[in-house]
Amino acid sequence: MKKPILSLFAPFLLVGCNSEMKIQETAPTVDKVEKIEPAITLSAEVQKLQQAALRGTQGYDIIESLTTEVGPRLGGSPQEAVARQWAVAKFNELGLENVHIEDFTVPKWIRGEERAEIISPFPQELKITALGGSSATPESGIEAEIAYFPTFEDLEKAPMGGLDGKIVFISGRMEKAHDGAGYGPANQKRQLGATEASKRGALAVVIRSVGTDSHRFPHTGQMRYRDNVKPIPIGALSAPDADQLERILSRGETMRLKLTLTPKYGGELPSGNVIGDIIGTEKPEQIILIGGHLDSWDLGTGAVDDGAGIGITAGAVQVLLESGLRPKRTIRLVAFGSEEIGLLGAFAYAKQHKDNLHNHVLASESDFGAGKVYALRTSVQGSARESLMEIQKSLEHLGVKMEAGDTSGGPDIIPLRQQGVPAIRLQQDGYDYFDLHHTPDDTFDKIDPDDVAQNVAAWATMIWMASEADVDFRAKPEEKIGE
Ligand SMILES: [Zn+2]
Repeated sequence: MKKPILSLFAPFLLVGCNSEMKIQETAPTVDKVEKIEPAITLSAEVQKLQQAALRGTQGYDIIESLTTEVGPRLGGSPQEAVARQWAVAKFNELGLENVHIEDFTVPKWIRGEERAEIISPFPQELKITALGGSSATPESGIEAEIAYFPTFEDLEKAPMGGLDGKIVFISGRMEKAHDGAGYGPANQKRQLGATEASKRGALAVVIRSVGTDSHRFPHTGQMRYRDNVKPIPIGALSAPDADQLERILSRGETMRLKLTLTPKYGGELPSGNVIGDIIGTEKPEQIILIGGHLDSWDLGTGAVDDGAGIGITAGAVQVLLESGLRPKRTIRLVAFGSEEIGLLGAFAYAKQHKDNLHNHVLASESDFGAGKVYALRTSVQGSARESLMEIQKSLEHLGVKMEAGDTSGGPDIIPLRQQGVPAIRLQQDGYDYFDLHHTPDDTFDKIDPDDVAQNVAAWATMIWMASEADVDFRAKPEEKIGE
């Protein structure tokens, strides 16, 4: 599968016929690049990489290509298979070696019809989407009275039984935060809402979307039934529609809702990870693994989640290859499949490579949108940690601080972390990330080319310096698992 590097000195060759116009519109200006005044003396190699990234649009163009030429790509779908072919072609174009797909299968789930309407007291349609993994209502829908829970905790505290024949509505607002800290707590109702409502006898569940926007877009996302409960359908309402239900309920009205969700499920579908390497010159057996996830939810075109992560990491690899520098360790780029539906590509990778995980010396995923990197975190301890702090110092002028605390390295790195692979993460500003996350509004126009260029500069610096560092990242493998 090895192909020659097509474009070492033609960074814009890869982006298609209208790229020049786009570059004029969006590329960071040279003025801006020259304002950089690093606090420490950067090596000539790092300077070269950072300048190339900050002046270029490598990551931005890759995100544009994926979201335009493939669009939505749900794990297991035919569109995800198209995305794999796109990734193979892109990785070969970049000049990666050993480019190939590693296949696995995933449970089938295909979105069907999705509708919700208030029957009484004030009949009207609502904006809803099924959560991934949800069971279906009958084709004709179900109609029932609403049982309202202001938060997921209120539902958890409710006695067993008592919700027979009801549609449960769980509201609860997610807090906006730069580091996405509000997501975990808000996500409880998405993950466990159907299980807890089913235990209490409910027919179905609607939740306020897990998100921080006030637009009329529902946020989808994966859920799972636990404790062998009867699977009941669950959907997410857009925030303004959840507000609407709360206003009606605050009038003391009894409300009846009609819900129609008809996803199809059962059986297995093909998925896969796409892999490519820059083989190291001195320690080729030692692998630094980076990447993003190739799949997206089906409502938008997966620009911030996770076209951005694919573009940022592949863009960094492109910058490194175009620089002519050759790393001592192997840099492996992975486009993981089926992340959204349960990190299934990540677990497949860990299984497939289980006999070689001891040679994975560092791993990291970009999967938190396209916002600027503001901090570096790592699970690495001891003397090797100091060499990673050198990376941070080389990024300080780009606004990157060192942050204490452990890291998983990103969602798809979790299974590797569990097997002792050291992790590093470039923490991104995700203040607006959950405005778009898993909605139809996750589209390419939301991507800021300057922010992507800053990410690519940080990633190119990180993979280069980590590949050169004369340390053992695994010297003190840790027991505890990140984040
Ligand atoms: Zn993601």
